Amino acid sequence: MKKLIIAIDGPSGVGKSTLSKVLAHEFGYLNLDTGAMYRAVALASFRQGIDASDHDALRQLCEEIVIEFSCNKGEEHVLLNGENVSSEIRTPEISLLTAAVAACPDVRQAMVARQRELGKAGGVVLEGRDIGTVVFPHADVKFFLKASAEVRGRRRFLELQANGVEVELARTIADVEARDAADTNRTTSPLKQAEDAVVIDTTNLDIPQVMERMFAAVADRLNKGTSG
Ligand code: C5P
Repeated sequence: MKKLIIAIDGPSGVGKSTLSKVLAHEFGYLNLDTGAMYRAVALASFRQGIDASDHDALRQLCEEIVIEFSCNKGEEHVLLNGENVSSEIRTPEISLLTAAVAACPDVRQAMVARQRELGKAGGVVLEGRDIGTVVFPHADVKFFLKASAEVRGRRRFLELQANGVEVELARTIADVEARDAADTNRTTSPLKQAEDAVVIDTTNLDIPQVMERMFAAVADRLNKGTSG
């Protein structure tokens, strides 16, 4: 059976990470969290004191750093130059900085090249903002997930709390909205729904309900074959 390229795009807090992990696990596919790659660049720039507007320095940084993924006992980790930075890249500060760093065209070019390399053989679920529009515009199945900012902010709040990060609900919702605005309004590869994406509004759906729709779309694609 041909191994598909599955794209999952949508704004933050919409459930992409959870859903792409489940989907990848179910089909035995690689799960590629492209947001983690931009987050690792943002963390590296923060540590080196590089301003998000200094595109030359960011381009150079992308040439120097090594971003890898590793899986240990079912847990996925993000490595920056060999160091496990999985928790550090998810603080509210780094999240906001990431949206600024990800607007740099040189950063995007470097990350997109890497994502295409990792995904080109198929058998992969990629989640991000521009997968179905830019990274793999010919992906076999494309999903675009959405939900109200209020619901997404609340989900992010609970997630951060569970990870021991001290945050306020109102601030988290405001951060989510600020990141949406930055991701949607940037010039290079903004967050945008692909015309041929399966759109799922997760506002009033739980994970199993969304998963059911996603499985149905993937099964449909597999049944039709992948030539069309
Ligand atoms: O998905 P996640 O919330 O971890 O992504 C963090 C940030 O990385 C996003 O707000 C966005 O600015 C950037 N990003 C991107 N393109 C992607 C994935 C993430 O610009 N494909």
